[in-house]
Amino acid sequence: MSALVLIELHGAEISANSRAAVTAATQLSGAVDALVLTNDAANASAVAAISGVNTVKVVADAALEHVSAGIASKIIAGVMSDYQYLVAGSATYSKNIVPVVGALLDVQPISDVCEVKSPNTFARPLYAGNIMATVESSDEKILLTVRATSFDHAEDGGSAAIEELSVDVPESNSTFISLQESQSERPELTTADRIVSGGRGLGSKENFGLIEQLADKLDAAVGASRAAVDAGFISNDYQVGQTGKVVAPKLYMAVGISGAIQHLAGMKDSQVIVVINNDGDAPMARMADLVWNTDLFGAVQDLIDNA
Ligand SMILES: Cc1cc2nc3c(=O)[nH]c(=O)nc-3n(C[C@H](O)[C@H](O)[C@H](O)COP(=O)(O)OP(=O)(O)OC[C@H]3O[C@@H](n4cnc5c(N)ncnc54)[C@H](O)[C@@H]3O)c2cc1C
Repeated sequence: MSALVLIELHGAEISANSRAAVTAATQLSGAVDALVLTNDAANASAVAAISGVNTVKVVADAALEHVSAGIASKIIAGVMSDYQYLVAGSATYSKNIVPVVGALLDVQPISDVCEVKSPNTFARPLYAGNIMATVESSDEKILLTVRATSFDHAEDGGSAAIEELSVDVPESNSTFISLQESQSERPELTTADRIVSGGRGLGSKENFGLIEQLADKLDAAVGASRAAVDAGFISNDYQVGQTGKVVAPKLYMAVGISGAIQHLAGMKDSQVIVVINNDGDAPMARMADLVWNTDLFGAVQDLIDNA
């Protein structure tokens, strides 16, 4: 009944979704280990401090600096001979790797788990979060990705053992060429307490600057609807929704966003929802805690000037 958590690292920094995966794993098993695939074994020491982790298994190799799904999945499938569960946070990193591990082990992974109901029964959203499905796995090994917004993020406080695994890193049929990352001083969208999100109502990339100014004023992350992304107001890293990021901040401010079902799927678990929209009947307004039924330009400028 032991569980292995696949840890996503950015340098030595542990992603929030991996901490959520540790919490989910502790609900499944009292024996939770973490797996780190890295080019630098020193990166594992931060993982050893996560509460709930017994042993950190490290595979360190220069080829793992930018790990491909092909390489990672073969390593993980080998390590999984000692484990019943593989748990990873729902994120691009794991969505790339876990299905390939499933193919290698002939197991159906269960993605976007929001609740552990029993050792083999899980709740996950369907139809853009409109219904929650309860799914039961009959596989001997169970592979899960879990939503970071549905599980507490395991804190530091542990002192796990670190064990370096000697694994022959397999050949890859793909080559890493480059990584383009957007850099921002603002809080990270998926873990921010406050998000100011803009939609098509902003009208242009220049006007979208108002959303950024308000976010800076509130020390918030910036989000966007897909219409705003498609119109080129901001890059798709900031898209919230079914095909974007799933967020659950304390405050979600939706400015000029109508509230299409696909957008709601990404933010409906936010604690307090504030809407600025000149259409008081927009679906977004119907689910809001507070609606400012007005022209967004004057309202946002007011907030920037007076917040
Ligand atoms: C398969 C699929 C996946 C999708 N995934 C996503 C997703 O992940 N995320 C997502 O967001 N969408 C997604 N969409 C698109 C979604 O259906 C909507 O088209 C999109 O969310 C609409 O964006 P919007 O609310 O910004 O634009 P609109 O629907 O055009 O709404 C604009 C809003 O701004 C308001 N407004 C306009 N001018 C002003 C003003 N001056 N002052 C105040 N208010 C004003 C209007 O009243 C309106 O409510 C997806 C669609 C499909 C088919």
